[in-house]
Amino acid sequence: MSDAVACPICTMPDPLDAVDGYECATCGHEWLGDPDDGLSNIVDANGNVLASGDAVTVIKDLKTDGKVGGIKSGTKIKSIRLVPGDHEIDAKVDGRQLLIRAAFVKKA
Ligand SMILES: [Zn+2]
Repeated sequence: MSDAVACPICTMPDPLDAVDGYECATCGHEWLGDPDDGLSNIVDANGNVLASGDAVTVIKDLKTDGKVGGIKSGTKIKSIRLVPGDHEIDAKVDGRQLLIRAAFVKKA
């Protein structure tokens, strides 16, 4: 789909995802993600730009596909991670890793 990401130091492919970019599993080098990955203009329900590490509040009761329970409106998420796709937010809620649409949250 997109060009494989490789470590700029040791050129090993398949780095680990870090909060703001990537971490090389081989040499431990960390670097920021590609600014052209489409994740720099994701906005919340109020039009505020979101970034990985932001705290947000869910503004709508959400059902989670194939899983028990859902996310209630008003749920606070401490640290989000932005990911490509139509559900732009990867977050941990009550110990579960969930994908949430940016339009259903507002920046805390
Ligand atoms: Zn490396």
